[in-house]
Parts: sequence; structure tokens; C-alpha cells
Amino acid sequence: MVTRSKPVAAAGPGAPGPLTTPAVAPHGWPVWGHDAAVETLQGAVARDRVRHAYLIAGPDAVGKTALALAFAAALSCLEPPAPGLACGACRSCRKIGRGVHPDVQSWDLARQAATAEKSGGKNTSMTIETVRELCATAALRPMEGRWRVVLVDDAETLQETAQEALLKTLEEPPAFMTLLLLADDLELLLPTIRSRCQVIELRPVPRATVAASLVAAGLPEPRAVEVAALAGGRPGWAHRAAADPKLLQRRQETVDRALAWVAGSGYDRLVTAVRLGDTFTKKRGEVFADLETLLGVWRDALLLHAAQPTYLTHRGETAERLQELARGWALDDVHRAVCAVQTCIGDLEANVRPRLAMESMVSQWPTTTTSRPRP
Ligand SMILES: [Zn+2]
Repeated sequence: MVTRSKPVAAAGPGAPGPLTTPAVAPHGWPVWGHDAAVETLQGAVARDRVRHAYLIAGPDAVGKTALALAFAAALSCLEPPAPGLACGACRSCRKIGRGVHPDVQSWDLARQAATAEKSGGKNTSMTIETVRELCATAALRPMEGRWRVVLVDDAETLQETAQEALLKTLEEPPAFMTLLLLADDLELLLPTIRSRCQVIELRPVPRATVAASLVAAGLPEPRAVEVAALAGGRPGWAHRAAADPKLLQRRQETVDRALAWVAGSGYDRLVTAVRLGDTFTKKRGEVFADLETLLGVWRDALLLHAAQPTYLTHRGETAERLQELARGWALDDVHRAVCAVQTCIGDLEANVRPRLAMESMVSQWPTTTTSRPRP
């Protein structure tokens, strides 16, 4: 089964510093973007129509955990200011904020690693033992409120046997339980699991919304705009990056690699394509991340060509270098390059041979007439 590597602990409970705790958005939940999803869940709480299982799917750090915890808070708040909202200050809200509420429990790969250290396994997927443990918890009556909320993050890594074990709980859920499955990729879950959940898909958040969330959390506006531009629509990543300069630096290194690939000669491009193609099986997540960045770089070349700098993902030196390269290309050629990267990502997801997919992609890029080595 495919596994995705991901950083632990998004802007969730226990994370230090004001920047890692999202401020409350206009709809009353500390969730930025995803207004339709928030409305659905707020409505479920307000009308007392809470389902026993939700599947919240979307890219890493897009806001799945923030949404799930806000939902848990609204379900458990002792003094809700309005139906569907949480006060953020009562005993229950504070416990959820600190990750210690006895009726709201989270499971993910990190927790599995911490509790199953003895097994010495690789911990790249959620096992049946973990599911048995969380199902046993799910069956316990809530201690403090009406609901027991069980969060299962990294759900896309659930082994097939683990998913089958989970099905039993989904088929006969305790009346007081709601299960929140959080997954980067919906397709990696069994159809029988998906059909028993209300599916809520989260898409990347507009850049202006990400910037607004950072400003609301106390970041000066120019810096918020800069971080939001690199975040790729993922508020969780933006908040972590705002608090951790190393994350921004690593992101810049990825961008620099993508830019060097784009600016390279036909031969150099092919060499990179073959190298990445050959490492794909072992470093699937990293290669996909590199390709997403590459797609952003080519899209920026297209925007620069079309004189639409407002929507650029990359600014400063990166944009200047791209502008220089784009001058040597026709608009159609740049557009074809963007499509070629999208096709390559789709091909890799469809299990086309990685080297073939990569080679085909670079063969469709326009040649670099103005390319010269960077000092
Ligand atoms: Zn409260």
C-alpha cells in the first residue's frame, strides 16, 4: 500500500507559539478557507444531525486537523455562544486545545510509533492493532459530554486488514460516537469505508485567505503575504513556516532545484528526469512534492509571459530568473510545458513507468535559448 510521509502535529493542540494557533475566522471557527465544509459541520452540530463517520480529505496541511478539532470543540463546548460554535474558553474547549480532552482522542502514525516502539517496524502504515485499540476506545461512553470524538489522521495509510477491522465499528457505531477520518488521498481507502462516511473534501485555500489567517495570528502583513505565496494554499504549512524559518529555507531549496531543472540544457533536464524516475519507487512522496513545485514554477513562467504577476507563486530572484527564461519561449510552448508536468503527475499516479513519464515530460519543454549557468 502507498504511504505518504508527513510532518507530525500541524496547527493543532499542544503546538507552541501564537502563530501555530489559528485565530478565529469570520464564521466563528479557527479554520481559514473551507467555508462550505465549516457550514456543513456547524449545521450538523446546530441541528443535532451529527453523523457517526466523516471522511475529511485533502492535501497535507490544508486544514483537515484544524477543521476536525473545531468540530470536536463545537460538539463538546460547555458554553457555546451560539448553536454550532465553541466558546474557546470553557474547561472542555481548553482541554481540546491542549489535546487532553478524555472524550476527544486522536490517532495517527506518530502516536502509533510512540505506543508500538517495541515492534521495531517501519511505521509507514496504520496497523490492525492500532485500529483495534482505537475501536475499543470508541466503544466507551463519553466521560464529560455527549459525544466521543475519535480522530484518525493518516487514514490513507491504513492497511487493508486495518480498514476491514474499522468497518465493523462503522457498521454498528455506538450512538455517542463520531469518527473523523483524515486522509490526504481519498482513493486509498476501501469503497466500503468511503460509502459509510460523509465525505468532506478540502481544496487548497486562496492565497489571500492564507495571508489573512497569518495576519490574524499576529504576523506583519508583508511577511504574511510572502509566506502565503509559498504555502501552496495550505494554511497549516503557512503557520508552521511562519514560526520556523528552516521550513521556509527548505521550501526555497526545493524551488531552486525546480528552477535549475527548468533552466537546464536538454541533456541536463534528461539526466534529472532519469534520476528522479529511478528514485520514484523509494521516495514517492518527495518526487511528487518536487513535481508540484515544478508545476508551480512552470505556471509562474506562464503568468510572467501573460504579464499577470499578481498571481505568481514565486517572487524575488526566482521570478526574475523565470522572467529572463520566459522571454526566450513562445506562450504556447510554456503552456505545453505546464500540461506536460500535469500529465506526468497523472501518469505516475496511474503507475506508468516513472522514467518513461519523466522523460516524456521533459521532451515537451521548450529549449532554453537564454539559459546559462548561475554564478
Ligand atoms: Zn467552550
